[in-house]
Amino acid sequence: AKASSRNTYCFYEAGMDAAVEKRMQLEIEMREAVVCGDFALHYQPVLRLADEQIVGFEALMRWPHPTRGMISPEAFIPLAEETGQIVPLGDWALREACTEAASWPNDLRVAVNVSAVQFQQPGLEQSVVSALAASGLAPHRLELEITESVLVQDAEAVIACLHRLRSVGVRIALDDFGTGYSSLSYLRRFPFDKIKIDRSFIREISDPDAAAIVRAVVGIATHLGASVTAEGVETVAQLEQVRQEGCTEVQGYLISRPLLTEQATEFARGERVR
Ligand code: C2E
Ligand code: CA
Ligand code: CA
Ligand code: CA
Repeated sequence: AKASSRNTYCFYEAGMDAAVEKRMQLEIEMREAVVCGDFALHYQPVLRLADEQIVGFEALMRWPHPTRGMISPEAFIPLAEETGQIVPLGDWALREACTEAASWPNDLRVAVNVSAVQFQQPGLEQSVVSALAASGLAPHRLELEITESVLVQDAEAVIACLHRLRSVGVRIALDDFGTGYSSLSYLRRFPFDKIKIDRSFIREISDPDAAAIVRAVVGIATHLGASVTAEGVETVAQLEQVRQEGCTEVQGYLISRPLLTEQATEFARGERVR
């Protein structure tokens, strides 16, 4: 028994070293990839329920790694946030998304995810303004998605920054609503144009309790003059239910998975989805 537990211990320790080493390696490679611009954005369509039109896309980051394959943002965004690499990476995403969107037809919008770490830096507002200027994208076509985690930082500074961004014409969306730790009072203090209900609620929307929460969020959002997007809609039943609860827009695999740029414009040109 002793020998085996010792073996287990050794194995565990070796495993730890490997994990730390892998992380350090990934960190070095990420630094290089940021400099070389090796990242990519995929675009997931956003469907407006009122007329079933595609009104825009959410830009989602990917890391097409030369040997490890396509790395998901869930695997590299947290590391990028810890190391501060999210700041240049987030800047790149803003510029890239605005440049792409500027060539899209009609008034299609682009939504860009902004990390709380980017809000801790003084340069975010300037990055947004220069991404708009460089691309020529009209400010109202850019939406910034922020999560509740920005709201627990220096709240006053964040509020002021959001107000300035909105006065430029940029729209603000509160992402993953319902998963964080903010209270409803935040909704009153922060200037949002849109609330995105996290897909954990949509997944359970056939449950009357989950449906009641969605309905309540729609009620509050409507009162505050904000629209509501249901995230992660995968079935027709979910689509019909979020429509019934008053959500204004939907995203999810039912409509489309995230697409390459070329596919995204084509998708938007096809008139109706269903
Ligand atoms: P998010 O902002 O909540 O993005 C939605 C995620 O849900 C995306 O995963 C999308 O592919 C996935 N999704 C969309 N529809 C469905 C569906 O019907 N079912 C399921 N199961 N999933 C669906 P993705 O692309 O892997 O991104 C994961 C997260 O990584 C994002 O969550 C966001 O928090 C972060 N992220 C992605 N791109 C960026 C970025 O450019 N900057 C920052 N700061 N974070 C990013
Ligand atoms: Ca998002
Ligand atoms: Ca989300
Ligand atoms: Ca999420």
